Amino acid sequence: MTSSTPLLLHALAFAADRHRQQRRKDAQATPYINHVIAVARTLAAAVHDVPTAVVCAAVLHDIIEDTETTAQELQSLFGEEVAALVQEVSDDKTLPKQERKRLQIAHAPQLTHSARLIKLADKICNLQDVSGSPPADWPLQRKQEYFDWSKAVVDQIRGTHTTLEALFDDAYRLRP
Ligand code: NDP
Ligand code: ZN
Repeated sequence: MTSSTPLLLHALAFAADRHRQQRRKDAQATPYINHVIAVARTLAAAVHDVPTAVVCAAVLHDIIEDTETTAQELQSLFGEEVAALVQEVSDDKTLPKQERKRLQIAHAPQLTHSARLIKLADKICNLQDVSGSPPADWPLQRKQEYFDWSKAVVDQIRGTHTTLEALFDDAYRLRP
């Protein structure tokens, strides 16, 4: 990790800057950066010898969807591999929300192995959040639907990584 650590720190600083105005939907309005750090940490803790580019892409996984950052910008700052991975895990924001959710399930089998790892870590962290620090205004049914949709996405990519899938199943057991 030694020689590539600066790229990861660069990704963290860049994400912290671009997400600086954003908060999670929980009652504490947790800074958004906490989520991308949790996703990257979940990934790095579970996946032996995970490439730094994949951890960087995890740190940057919501930056195209949720900020003005473009794939071209990511490519020039972090290289083609990181930019391509972030694009892979980003929804098309021009589509209606329900269609984006349907496409996440439909497109999951086409994701590369590295993109699947990031997708799994993101779904683990979001289920943990819906259990432990949920969006303040979500009724029970919406939490349950979120759990079920997340499982429908993950069920499309079973066989990707044993530990991450076990962590997902642990999180899913907390379905409200
Ligand atoms: P959303 O997609 O609106 O919100 C969930 C996303 O918010 C997560 O995937 C996560 O994305 C992010 N997030 C931020 N803070 C939290 C947090 N504390 N806990 C968990 N996730 C958090 O939710 P739905 O999937 O329920 O809704 C999809 C669409 O359906 C929306 O258009 C919504 O308006 C509509 N809708 C749904 C209802 C329902 O009952 N399901 C009811 C009313 C409307 P990330 O990792 O990208 O940050
Ligand atoms: Zn996310």
